[in-house]
Formats: sequence, C-alpha cells, structure tokens
Amino acid sequence: MTDLLITNARIVTGDANGTQMTGALAVTGGVIDALIPQGGALPKAAETIDAGGAILAPGLVNTHCHAPDCLFRGLVENLALEPWLQTVWKAEGAILSEETCRIGARLGFAELALSGVTSVVDMFWFPEQSMLAGGEIGLRTCAGGAWFDLPMGMDGKTPGDRAAMCEGFFQQFPRTDMSIPGIFPHGAYTVGPDGLRAAHKISSAHKGIYSVHAAETLAEVEDIKTRYGNTVIRHMDALGILDERTILAHCVHLDDEEIAILARTGAVVAHNPVSNMKLASGFARIPDMLKAGVKVTLGTDGAISGNDIDMWLAMRLAAMLHKGATLDPTAVTTQQALHMAAQAGADAMGLGKIAGSLEVGKQADMILLDMRRPHAIPMFDALTHMIFSANKSDVTDVWVGGTRIVSARELVSYDIAPTLDAVRDLVPKIAATIA
Ligand SMILES: [Zn+2]
Repeated sequence: MTDLLITNARIVTGDANGTQMTGALAVTGGVIDALIPQGGALPKAAETIDAGGAILAPGLVNTHCHAPDCLFRGLVENLALEPWLQTVWKAEGAILSEETCRIGARLGFAELALSGVTSVVDMFWFPEQSMLAGGEIGLRTCAGGAWFDLPMGMDGKTPGDRAAMCEGFFQQFPRTDMSIPGIFPHGAYTVGPDGLRAAHKISSAHKGIYSVHAAETLAEVEDIKTRYGNTVIRHMDALGILDERTILAHCVHLDDEEIAILARTGAVVAHNPVSNMKLASGFARIPDMLKAGVKVTLGTDGAISGNDIDMWLAMRLAAMLHKGATLDPTAVTTQQALHMAAQAGADAMGLGKIAGSLEVGKQADMILLDMRRPHAIPMFDALTHMIFSANKSDVTDVWVGGTRIVSARELVSYDIAPTLDAVRDLVPKIAATIA
C-alpha cells in the first residue's frame, strides 16, 4: 500500500529531459515510487489528494540565504554596498545573539517553506541556530561555521577561535540528508588568504560545503586587486579553495578567464538577481557561465538586500533580466531557470541523487501550485507558467521527504505564531540601532 497518492496533477518533473505529464504521483516511505500517466491504474493509498489540475513540481532549493537577517527587513535602504554593510553590521551587532538568530532563522525559514522552498543554504552568525531552526521548520538545511578576520565577531569569537569552532560544528551536526554542515567564510575582503585556506582545509576534511561571497561588486574586485594583485576568482583559485563543494555567492564581476576557472574547478555559482539589482551590484554574466558549463544555482540572499526572500522572483528575474541585459531573447530558458532553482541547487548541496526533481527513487520534496487563480488561466505550458506567471502565494502544499510541512497555505510543521510575536517585540530595539 502506498502512503500518499496525488492524482490529477500537472507534473513538472524538473528532470534532465524537461519531462512534463498529467497524472498521479505515489510516495512510499518518503520516496517517490511511481509516476502514473492520467488514466493509468492507481495503487491503493493511505492518503489520496486530488490535485484538481494543480501543478506538482520539485521543491525549490535556495543556495544563498541569510535567514536571521529577516529581522532587519526594510531597515536600511538606498545606500551603496559599503555604507550599507556598515549600517547593517551596526544593527546586527546590537541585536544578534543565539536567541535572536534562532528567532530570525525560524522567521526566514517559515517564509521560505510557505513559498515552496524545501532546501536552503544559510550563511550567518551562530550557524547552529540556523541548523536547529531548519530542523524545526522541516527544511533540508546547510549551514556553515562563521569565519571572519574581525578582531571580535558578532558571536564574541576571535580569529584564533575559528578553527576549533568550525571543527566543533561538524561534530555537533554530522551530515545527514536533512542537515548538511560546512564552513562559510564571509568573503575574500573580510577573510585573508590564511583564513580562507585554513577553513577550506577543515571543510574538505569533513567533505563539508564551503560557501563564500565572491565578486559581488566592482569595489570588491578593485580591493582584492590592490591587496593581492589578482581578481577575486583568480585569487581564490590560486589559494586552491575552488572545487565542487564550493558555493560562490554572486560572481557578478567576472572576466572570460574567471568563468573558465569556475568551469574547470567545478565551483558552483549562487546567482542572486534580486539582491544584485537592489544593491546596484550589476548583472552577473549568467548566459556566458551557462555556455561555459559553469554550475549555476539560485539564491535569495537576505531580506535586507531584497526585503523578502522569494525564490519565485529570483527565478523570474533569472529568466528575464539577462534577456534585457544581453538583448538576446534566448539568454536563459525557462528550463534553465527551473534547473538553477531545483536540481542544480540540490547538486550543490550534495543532495542531487535524492532531491531536485520528481523522479522515481528520489525523496518526495515537492510542491503544489494553485491553478484556479485568474493569472493561471489559460495555461498552455506549465513550466512557462511557473517561471513567468506564478508567484510564492500560489504555493498551497509542500512536502520534504514525503512529510507535509505546508498544508493549504499554512505551515503545519511548526507553530510560527509565537515567533512572529517575538519579532514584533524586538522591533523598537532594532529600530533604535540606527536612530
Ligand atoms: Zn549574501
């Protein structure tokens, strides 16, 4: 007997062939065990859901997020990156603690879950709080030990504490399909060559995910050139920190040779189109990266550089803005946009064999999208609808490994109301940080 059967669905599998079908999907023990075309014989199931023509699609994978930064949503606006960062860091310094990071991570992950995200890579202070909050909400969560050269980090730790702290993080969170540990140095302008190398060595020894901001702004590129005589990606390549477990957030300002370096090393790019536009960072050369065979994934960045953390907006922009920027209407296809937002993201987290698409044998990480709304009618192609018309509020139901975490647009995995109250209580204190 099958545990769960979803019938009458328009299934966008997200597989390598771009397969779509109308029919049913069966889940047993959290694993997809059948995709059945409409009219085919259906197995007996403990629970059957008639999707009524809704789209059933893979859960989305957000490969660059700072969930606890949701606490600062809309606080700092209209500044260039450097003064913006200084203001943000001032607010963070006054507010962040283990407790507030946990509250902020819950808030952000609830927002992601309700919008159909099933896996997330979250970079922040007190990463154990992100891991624990991810477990509470039910997302596959990848977080990494924080690594900065600041004399005193917002976690009260010094550079000399970082290595032991990161080792401890791997002990506290052994790798599972739900919990993926790593080390996340902030960037090449905030962590020197020794720190970047040391962090990479520890992370590699544990087969961890190594994520770092890279080439986000022209100012960063100039800074790294001045300090080390090299552009950001060449600098990182020379340090030996680029490989298939490296996720580089942004990569906005790259030349041809740097794109070739990413393709050669297998390092993954987390494209954050919303953040890059809002912070006036520029347009990443995504079409050129895709042509060169670079692995490109999608992220939301934090809610202070995009105000909400919306993978649907990220997908739509990824598929749209490069057409405008390159004057090429074929620049990024809808299939490429979905691949970035699902399978490529799962691959980057080391989950590609068990997640990222709806295929027999994979975990049931999946979402249902309401198709009864005016903007969904008519619909000639479900993938076109997903990329160019759908939005996060269309997501009605979400499963991670067959466990339903969102039902009828409500988070059912965790009671989020007390978290919302706790954040509201913090607002006067947060506002006072920049007054
Ligand atoms: Zn970021």
